[in-house]
Amino acid sequence: MLQQVKKHIFFTFFLLFFLPGLYGEYNNKNDDQPPLADLDLITSPAGLLSEYVSIESVTGNEKEAGTFLAGVCKDMGLNVEIFTNAKDTFNFAASLYPLEMGKPNIILLNHIDVVPADEPHLWTHPPFSGKIVNDTLWGRGSIDNKSMAVMQLLGMKQFIDKSKTHDFPYNVTLLSVSGEETGGFTGSKVISEHYLDRLNPVVIYGEGGAGLQDVVPGTADQKLFGVSVAERRMLWLKLELNMETSGHGSVPPPSYAIQEMIDALDNVIWENNNRNVRFSNTTTEMFKELGKVQPGAMGVALRNIRVSKPIVVPFLKRDEILYSLVSNTVTVTGIKSEPGAPNQIPQKVTATLDCCLLPEFPAEDFLKKIRKWLANDNIEIKIINKRDKAKPSSVNKYFYVMSNAIKHTYDNAKVLPILFPASNDNNYYRSKNIPAYGIHPTYMNLELIETIHNVDERLPVNMLEKGIEVYAELIRQFLYEDFEKLN
Ligand SMILES: [Zn+2]
Repeated sequence: MLQQVKKHIFFTFFLLFFLPGLYGEYNNKNDDQPPLADLDLITSPAGLLSEYVSIESVTGNEKEAGTFLAGVCKDMGLNVEIFTNAKDTFNFAASLYPLEMGKPNIILLNHIDVVPADEPHLWTHPPFSGKIVNDTLWGRGSIDNKSMAVMQLLGMKQFIDKSKTHDFPYNVTLLSVSGEETGGFTGSKVISEHYLDRLNPVVIYGEGGAGLQDVVPGTADQKLFGVSVAERRMLWLKLELNMETSGHGSVPPPSYAIQEMIDALDNVIWENNNRNVRFSNTTTEMFKELGKVQPGAMGVALRNIRVSKPIVVPFLKRDEILYSLVSNTVTVTGIKSEPGAPNQIPQKVTATLDCCLLPEFPAEDFLKKIRKWLANDNIEIKIINKRDKAKPSSVNKYFYVMSNAIKHTYDNAKVLPILFPASNDNNYYRSKNIPAYGIHPTYMNLELIETIHNVDERLPVNMLEKGIEVYAELIRQFLYEDFEKLN
């Protein structure tokens, strides 16, 4: 049964890790306008996605693909505003109404950048071909995340003409950003720090969960979708130890820098391997909802996870993904000393730690723990990077509008709030108190999900069309229904 739960959780494992990135210069160019795209080339959703995928946009090289997409938006009649336009960053908004109107804004967030495709020879079709074969579109970004931009944009399309003559209560904005795959420093970080007043967002719908097929036996008719309402967040640390000792390895001193660092790291690793399980409100809610569709004893246990903790925890600890979802983790990702001869004792050693914290857990408290575990006052701890703490987004009307749109599109859909195991861009907005929900609104099998950040990334064209339907219905509810009465 654990395997089933694991598969459930696995679909939160989308679009994963980020690498160190640099905070780029931002450059406000509001008067910038993209050239119109040649729409004759683009006759269908798949045609548009194919064009977009075929413009390579590995992080740091988003400009060409971003300019293309902005051009398509402009050609469709949206109001395009370019926020940053430099060699290594391109961020833009495309809205039903001009942003200067200041309408409360529904933001559809997507990222332009993709991870590299380092081994093109392993791909069935070249990674930047955007080839469509037997109704499947192949290429890097065909799921993560270019398909989302196309779904969102074409979901908006049917409301463009009407918005020219009608005063809807909300604006709707496609927000396409750079740098997500390396931590969002050139994209959502810049947007969340400098452009929120301009955007006036009331809610963000970005990436995160998805729908996953064939996960719970006996519920084959039920389609499960996970919408992330919180993410664990990163805290990267650098440890430094300087120790003056004799320099020759043939007469070892009682202690020296490398030895002390290894001892200290050994403590940290032990603490991590024996770490406590914590059930936050978000995980409790997630397990409760999972328990409702999980038959048998495991379903009961999941529905009452705080009570069944003594029974469930040993199971959770046996699975590294589940264990990481209910705990703060720390991984030693580097240890380095000054290069020297094999018989020379270095006087300085550094190490790096990748910590990933539960949404509610304060970084300062975790730092105190690390200090205690290291048990060595001579080790200096520096923060390389961290994401701000953000409150999980509530399961409220904004959640239910997305949930309704998914249920409208897919028969027998069940939509769950979930915790996403790694950081993504949503956290930048949540930390500014803007509710953010993460979902790639497709219903995929594991085989497809495993192609993300991997070889042979691809998306069946009918899934792209379903995703468009979800966003169209989402927008329709905001523009045509009495939002306060929705549930
Ligand atoms: Zn992504």
